[in-house]
Formats: sequence, C-alpha cells, structure tokens
Amino acid sequence: MTKITFYGGIKEIGGNKILIESKEAKVFFDFGQSFSLLDEFFVPEAYLSPRNRFGLRDYFALNLIPKLKGLYSKDALKHTEIVYSEPEYDAIFLSHPHMDHFSHLEYIDPKIPVYMGETTERILRSTQKTTRTKIFYDDSDIKHFRTGNRISIGDLEISPIHVDHSVPGAYGFLIDSGEKRIVYSGDLRSHGKKPKMTEDFVNASKTFEPDVLIIEGTRVSKKETRKNHTENFVETESKRIVNNNKGLTLGMRYPKDLDRFQTFYSTAKENGKELVISPKTANLLLYLKDDPIGLPDPIKDETIKIYNREKLKYNDWEKELQTHCIDSEYIRQNQSNIILELDSYYMAELIDIKPEKGEIIHSMSEPFEEDPVSAMVDNVLRNWAETFNMTYNQLHASGHASKEEIFKMVEEIKPKKVIPVHTKNPNLFKKTVIETILVKK
Ligand SMILES: [Zn+2]
Repeated sequence: MTKITFYGGIKEIGGNKILIESKEAKVFFDFGQSFSLLDEFFVPEAYLSPRNRFGLRDYFALNLIPKLKGLYSKDALKHTEIVYSEPEYDAIFLSHPHMDHFSHLEYIDPKIPVYMGETTERILRSTQKTTRTKIFYDDSDIKHFRTGNRISIGDLEISPIHVDHSVPGAYGFLIDSGEKRIVYSGDLRSHGKKPKMTEDFVNASKTFEPDVLIIEGTRVSKKETRKNHTENFVETESKRIVNNNKGLTLGMRYPKDLDRFQTFYSTAKENGKELVISPKTANLLLYLKDDPIGLPDPIKDETIKIYNREKLKYNDWEKELQTHCIDSEYIRQNQSNIILELDSYYMAELIDIKPEKGEIIHSMSEPFEEDPVSAMVDNVLRNWAETFNMTYNQLHASGHASKEEIFKMVEEIKPKKVIPVHTKNPNLFKKTVIETILVKK
C-alpha cells in the first residue's frame, strides 16, 4: 500500500517534511524547518536557542524533528540517545531552496541521495559560503533533475515540473507508485515573472489524473489583508518611484528573490542609474553566472556596482571581490544616481553614506500582525527613513498564489482528494468541490 506521512507543514506555514512510502521505496519530499514549532520553545532575540553543539538532542527532546532510525548523520546523532544505523530511506527530493523546505537537510545522513534542480544547488552552495548556515556535508550525495525527467526510486516514478515562485529553481512533483498517483505542489504562484511555468505544472498534473493532490495554501485565509500585487506592478511602480526621485533609492528585498533583483536591475538600467548590490548578492550571482535563468555578471555588468561595507575583518569570499567594490564615499557622492540594495540589518550604513533625501522601496512582506518582531523592524525602518529624509514605500508581490488562484488550480487539476499543506487554514479547502483530507502531523 502507498502511504503518506506528514512530519511537518500541517496547520503551519512551512516545515514541510512529507514521506511517501511504497512497496519498495521511502522518499521524503522537502525537509524544512518548522518556524512555528521552534517559536514555541525558543526566542533567539532573547538568546534562547537550541544548543546546536549537541546536534539533534534538543530537537528530539522537544519533538521538533521526527525521531526516525536510519535517517540522520553520525554527527547529528552523536549527542543523542539514538544510535547511528545505516540509511533506511532512499532519497530526499527538494522542491526549492527556501529554509522552511530545506533547512533540516543538514542533519540527514550524507549517504542518502538528495535530489534538486541545479539552480537550487547553486543557490544553496552560495548560501553556505556566505552565511553560517550549514547545508551540505563534503560527501553529500547530490543529484540533479529538471523538467521532463522521470526518476525511478524503487517502484516510485517521480517527475519534477517547474513552477513559478519567489526563488528560481522551484519545482512541483508528479509521483506514481504504480498503485497510486500523487501530486505535490511545493510553493507556487501565477503572478510572478514566469506564470507559464506554473501553468505547465497545473496542466501536467491534470493530465496525470492524480488520486491525491498535496498543495500549499499559504495565503488561504478567511480574509486577505495584504495587497495583492503582481511582479509586473512592482516593476512599474519601482520605475515610477525611481524616475521621480532626485535622491538616493534604497531597495530592500529577500536575498534569494532574484525576480525582484531583476525588477530592481531593469529599473536601474531604464533610468540610467547604477544598481549597488552587497557582496553576498554578488557571490550568489557569480554562482548562477552560467545558469540558464540569465542573470547578469556582477563584475562585468556596467549597471552593477558592489558595495564593500567597512568592516574590521573580512571573509575570504569577500576579499576576492574587494578589487571590484565601491565604498560609502562613492555612494554619498553619486547618491541621486544610485539604487542601493540594503538589507535591514545593515541600515547603519546610512550613517556613513549620509543620504540627503530619497526613497526607500521596502519590497518585502508587510509586517505580520501575529509577529511582534516584524512589527518592530517595520517601526525601526521608518525611524531610519525619517532621520535621513527618505520616503518609505511598501511595495511587494507575494511568492504565493492567492486563495482564489489555489482553489482554481485544485479544481482544474481535479484530484480524487486534496491534502492542504503549508497553510494555517486547511479547513477552508472544503469550499472547493474536491474532497479535502485534513491530516494530522
Ligand atoms: Zn518557498
């Protein structure tokens, strides 16, 4: 019998860990971190965090990660009561490189192959290089897939199909066990720069005639309070703001949102301005240099400059970029000619840059009502804006399809049953004409 077990992603946004078992195979789809579960026990802002030096000890004790034999690495188990044993799982498939889908990968036994798109690996390699995030072991067994592939794992046949999301290299999967057909959406949207990819996924899913559709519902809620912009709208608005701006422009976006990078890039190009990026972004663009998604080379491209923050000590990967970098003085002198990408935690750079006036384009989620930290950040950013005589603009297109779009996909794919994941409101899926299964974690 084909069996699906959900070790995360149920009644929460993120933390997807979906195990599909057939007669001959055991495969996990995504292996991400559950933010809400972690929040029940830890407050990093108050210095209360899991003791990572003990591997999975705290995670097991608090039930933050499933206690499964034959899944984790020797390293991760070293300080726990579980004794290491040879792998009992055949593969992990990653839908895309977002934390809530990949980040517990660091505990997986490197002998278990991990399948992902090539773009995903490049993004994760750059993340591992430029942050303190550990993702891969030196001997991790990484395998690539692309749309059109059919991968056999025992009696499971898995076909990845590209989808549009707020990070490149995102996929959904058609999974055939011979006995049952299952579709898993990963995260997706239809209002980004490549809606055709999501359309391809929906069409292929429909033709597949699935028994079960496992689909995300991030934005499925009774009432949507956020603005529902498309990426095209964000681009048009950014161009308008920059065109009218006589001072410095700050662009703030999620680090892996490369559609938004391209929006800022073409905004700069069209207005004859320079786009100043961080060394981290430059590193990511270099990792993706000959990837078919077609991003510019940060060193050769004339529109792009790299900003070297003044630090007391630099990492090796930063040193490699330094000869190509500009400093705060350059930005100060050319401020009306620059769009500067600045992460919120680097706002203090404004003290050195000394902008006279300008516009901030906050191109990230509005603060979450239920999250006091994001409300605090929002307040703080507005204080910085006011101090430096800059106007604060909230302008964002979500990485996720709206409730209406998700429900339309469900009814179009027409599975026998639908299982909502990555949502706080799975019960609302009962409004669709498809039988909804509300599963327990
Ligand atoms: Zn995502």
